Amino acid sequence: MVAAIELQNVSKIYNNVPVVNDLSFSIDSGEIFGLLGPNGAGKSTTIRMIITLTEASGGKITVAGYDINNHRDQVKRNIGVVLQQISIDGELTVWENMEFHGRMHHIPDSQRQKAIARWLDYVSLSDRKDVLARTLSGGMKRRLQIARALLHEPKILFLDEPTVGLDPQNRRRLWEVIRDLNRQGMTILLTTHYMEEVEFLCEDRGRIGIMETGKLIELGTLKDFRTKYGEGLVIKQVDDKIEYLFFPTLADANAYMGGLVDRTGMMCRQSNLEDIFVELTGHQLD
Ligand code: ADP
Repeated sequence: MVAAIELQNVSKIYNNVPVVNDLSFSIDSGEIFGLLGPNGAGKSTTIRMIITLTEASGGKITVAGYDINNHRDQVKRNIGVVLQQISIDGELTVWENMEFHGRMHHIPDSQRQKAIARWLDYVSLSDRKDVLARTLSGGMKRRLQIARALLHEPKILFLDEPTVGLDPQNRRRLWEVIRDLNRQGMTILLTTHYMEEVEFLCEDRGRIGIMETGKLIELGTLKDFRTKYGEGLVIKQVDDKIEYLFFPTLADANAYMGGLVDRTGMMCRQSNLEDIFVELTGHQLD
C-alpha cells in the first residue's frame, strides 16, 4: 500500500540552525497521526514543508504517492489544509468564503453548490451561511476553515494546532468533527501542544510522534507508550519535589503502595501521556 505521507531524512535549516533535523516517518492511508511537542519543536515547519508552503533544505517528501517537488498540483488536489492563522475573509459571507475556495479548485457549478451545503451542514454552520464571516465566534471560524478545506474532497487533512484559543466546548466539538472524519476514512495529520488533544484523538487507532528540537524522540500508539514506560504510576511527594514511579500495570503500582508502612504524600493512578512525556524529556510542555 502506498503511504499517505512519507518523509525521508527531511531537514529545514533557518539561519544555519536545523529546526527540522533528519526527520523520517510515514503515515498510512486512513491513519490519524498526532505530532506533539513543545512550542518551537518544528511541528509547523514540518507541516508547511509537507503541504509545499515551505521548501525543505534536504530529504524527500511524498504525499499520496507523489513526490512534492515534481507533482505539486497532484499533491494540492489530494490535501486539505487548516493552518493556525484564521485565513477566511471576514468581509465575505460564510457561503461566499466557500464559493471562493470552490472556484479556486475549479469545482463545477452544480457540484459546488451541493458540496458547500453538505459541508456547512456537516460542521453545523448552515444557519449562518449568509452572515459575514467576521461575525462568527472563534470556534465557528475554525469549523468554517475545516468545511472549506474539505470542499474539494481531499484524501488527507492537515490541521496545525486546530484548537488553539478555543474554549473547552468548542474544542470538544472540533475534536468530535476530526474524529468522525477519520472514522470515515480521512487520513489526518495534526500538530498540537495539548496532550489531552492527542489522547482524545489518537486513543483508539492513532499514532503519536513526539518532537523536540526538530527531531522525533518517540513514535507509537498511546498503548505502545504505556507498555514501554508503564501503565501504573505512583506519585510521591518528597519535601517540595514530586517523584513519579512507573510500574508495568496499575495493579503493580497498587501492590507497591500496599506494601509500604508509611504512605504519606503518595498516590497511585494510571499513567497518562503527560506523565510519559515528562519521563521522556524531563520537562513539561507548557
Ligand atoms: P512549532 O510548530 O513546534 O511550535 P515551528 O516549526 O513553528 O515550531 O518553529 C520551529 C523553529 O523554527 C522555531 O525556533 C522558530 O523560531 C523557527 N522558525 C520557524 N519559521 C521560521 C522562519 N520563517 N524563519 C526563521 N526561523 C523560523
